[in-house]
Amino acid sequence: MSTRNTIEVAIEGGRRATAAPAAPLVWKFGGTSVADHDRLRAVAERMVAAQRSGRGVVAVLSAMGKSTDKLVDQAYAMSSRPPLRELDALLSVGESISCALASIAVAELGSHAVSLTGPQAGIGTDARHGNARLVGIEPHRIHEALADGAIVLVTGFQGIAPDGDVTTLGRGGSDASAVAVAAALDAGECEIFTDVPAVFTADPRVVPDARRLSSIRHEEMLEMAEAGAAVLQPRSVELALAHGVDIHLRSSFSTEEGTWIRREAAGFEGTAEVAGIAHRREESLFAVDGAGAGVVAAALAERAITVGAIVPTTSGVQFTAPGADPVEVTAALDAVDLAAKVDEDLGSVSVVSLGMARKPDIPVRALAALEAGGIPPRLVTTTPGRITVAVSSSRVDDAVRLLHQTFIPAAGSATVSDLHSPADAA
Ligand code: ADP
Ligand code: ASP
Ligand code: MG
Repeated sequence: MSTRNTIEVAIEGGRRATAAPAAPLVWKFGGTSVADHDRLRAVAERMVAAQRSGRGVVAVLSAMGKSTDKLVDQAYAMSSRPPLRELDALLSVGESISCALASIAVAELGSHAVSLTGPQAGIGTDARHGNARLVGIEPHRIHEALADGAIVLVTGFQGIAPDGDVTTLGRGGSDASAVAVAAALDAGECEIFTDVPAVFTADPRVVPDARRLSSIRHEEMLEMAEAGAAVLQPRSVELALAHGVDIHLRSSFSTEEGTWIRREAAGFEGTAEVAGIAHRREESLFAVDGAGAGVVAAALAERAITVGAIVPTTSGVQFTAPGADPVEVTAALDAVDLAAKVDEDLGSVSVVSLGMARKPDIPVRALAALEAGGIPPRLVTTTPGRITVAVSSSRVDDAVRLLHQTFIPAAGSATVSDLHSPADAA
């Protein structure tokens, strides 16, 4: 069976020729955007309207609201060290529910949708349960469903390992699923619908006068995401960069344009010395006695956790694991009979600026601003793309606002509106 649709087009002189149809729209809706039945209906209406206007629609959906967190809690209620394969079997369920419900909502509107799991959609990964890496997509079922005139709903976050087991792509991984599907379908772009109208120069929930970006380069967005800007999962931006996919990050609550993440950024942000300020509210500093850096890094890698900074101490090591849940870090160490002292009173704030190696003034200004604000740095790391300062968790928001004020020129008219509380989604 042909997997590619063709359409007949009239050309001058009355002859007819065939042409490849426009690439399908590839959309992704995050947790808040599918948080309840009304939101799912709104998503279904948006998809049906786009399809009726003549476009193929492939939508990647996240789990509803905070349902993945609830599944994680259930797993750890059963065991302090749940097997990763079973954790994936459990966590991947949330996305399946969203897609099936959205498909039912589409049917209710008189259109036809097909929900596909990650395995059914041919999303191949390695076998690293909990944080699997994409190895390739075989999208023939997506093409077939499009050719049949269906709206295609693909579960985000899920993949299939070489042995046929279901895997998950790490927290927030539906963004990566969507970009990967866009790349596999040669769609060129991927629209990610979320609960904020754009990417801002800092989390607009922390800095109400953060500047809204009309566009930002992939490289800058990647640094923001790696530093904790949860608006996009870092892997999705990496994939978009590697496969030449533009991302349009926009609100699922309106039709307004959001931010384009693309190679050529226009406007002030493309040339800004500092792209933005990112933060993580929950970081931990772990101390392990009687083990070296290599042993600790290997134990964490077994549970798909990447180590951040490691500092050897007289009795062992201290380390960070940015973005990792302390419960999972403790479980990873426990598996090799190591115990950690955990200081959870930590967060981090980063100033993102490409080419940091040639900008020694940025760390100086950042540290001076924090000192003037009475916020002592607990750990400072710099990379070519950013400076990250660990501070006490209770001071993270203050640190973000302070550094934003220091590095981002005031916009005058820019204000943040239309924010939708994640609490609405729970
Ligand atoms: P989704 O469930 O749609 O994937 P996420 O919660 O993962 O949504 O990401 C959206 C959130 O990212 C926003 O609610 C916002 O608080 C946060 N965020 C962090 N940094 C930024 C930023 N620089 N610009 C916009 N939003 C940001
Ligand atoms: N549901 C998963 C999570 O909460 C994946 C995603 O939403 O992108 O991390
Ligand atoms: Mg997300």
